[in-house]
Amino acid sequence: LEMADINLCDCIRNAVKIMQYQLNGIAKTELDIPDSADIQGNEGMISQVLINLIQNAVHAVDAGGVLKISLIKKDTDWRLSVCDNGCGIPDDIRDKIFDPFFTTKDIGKGTGLGLSTSYSIMKRHHGRIEIESQPGAGTCFILFFPTQVLS
Ligand code: ADP
Ligand code: MG
Repeated sequence: LEMADINLCDCIRNAVKIMQYQLNGIAKTELDIPDSADIQGNEGMISQVLINLIQNAVHAVDAGGVLKISLIKKDTDWRLSVCDNGCGIPDDIRDKIFDPFFTTKDIGKGTGLGLSTSYSIMKRHHGRIEIESQPGAGTCFILFFPTQVLS
């Protein structure tokens, strides 16, 4: 995996562009991001993580669905949140959603690979993923990227 100096904001803009057609089906997409956020990483892989999260958000919401993507620097990390106001993640499956092939979707609608690949990609970037979810209210996936990777 090729790592380079990249701008996280470009990954966000790429992913939103690629998902534009699906996003048109939901009420609103809000971006709250700076002009640049430099990290060491692979732009294609991070765009893939964001596409996975956006795809899941689109699946989780009904009419009136809102997607919010925000990026802030906090302590030694960039925190990238992808939040929806959809169905939420029930407590009893919280431990399983990162398992390869785990899906609650109908046959043909999901492979169950989105979050497990995203987890691996974040690990490769020395980062991590946190989840805040309230069944019936919505879900935030928060990606943590270290601003500086010591090698
Ligand atoms: P897939 O989308 O193919 O089902 P993922 O690995 O992307 O596989 O997600 C696994 C499961 O996690 C989903 O089937 C769903 O139950 C749950 N999930 C992921 N993201 C969300 C979300 N934003 N809102 C509600 N449930 C979610
Ligand atoms: Mg998915």
